Amino acid sequence: MNARRPEAIDPRGRHSLEAGGLLVPNPSGNASSRLLPLLPGRRASMMQEPVLVLNATYEPINVTAVRRAMVLLLKGVAQAEEVHSAEVHSAAHAHKVPSVIRLLAYRHIPQQSRALSRKNILLRDRNTCQFCGRVFPSSELTLDHVLPRSRGGRSSWENLVACCYRCNNTKGDRTPEEAGLKLARRPRPFTLHTSRQLMRLIGHRDERWRKYLFY
Ligand SMILES: [Zn+2]
Repeated sequence: MNARRPEAIDPRGRHSLEAGGLLVPNPSGNASSRLLPLLPGRRASMMQEPVLVLNATYEPINVTAVRRAMVLLLKGVAQAEEVHSAEVHSAAHAHKVPSVIRLLAYRHIPQQSRALSRKNILLRDRNTCQFCGRVFPSSELTLDHVLPRSRGGRSSWENLVACCYRCNNTKGDRTPEEAGLKLARRPRPFTLHTSRQLMRLIGHRDERWRKYLFY
């Protein structure tokens, strides 16, 4: 089985194909990474809108882009559970833009793992500096190693937090205690809960996702 490159989601809810996202299921083997050439270039932005992907059991497992969701639908490996009113047109057909799709065959997800990335840490911490508690645009945040790297601190979900430059300077190469700073909360490892939470954040504008994410 070929693992597809993980797809990532940034905090604005836009979808990108960079590494660092949820583990992406590849229900039909290695041929499915080819996009079918039926979707026109226009409405390109809609093609990047997030789509919630459910396992055959309705368990939310991933977020992907409309473009890839359409491919899964057209290949017959998934069906649309929720759709937008908007349509996209191919040469012969009009297709409702999917909001939630469900894989038709159960897909074993070996581990609900999510790649460690700056983007994902900022998303987890909701763009909030974990020392001063203020919210910043992503460009004004950095990642802080709570236990500094020079002291053996690892780059992990548990040791990285969103941090503004000011607090980062204040902290320097010290632990929060040494620098007189207090963490807003203990950085949490990636869990299924985190996964659901991130999906909710991504899908917060789409009411159709609610019943699948239990909120
Ligand atoms: Zn700060």
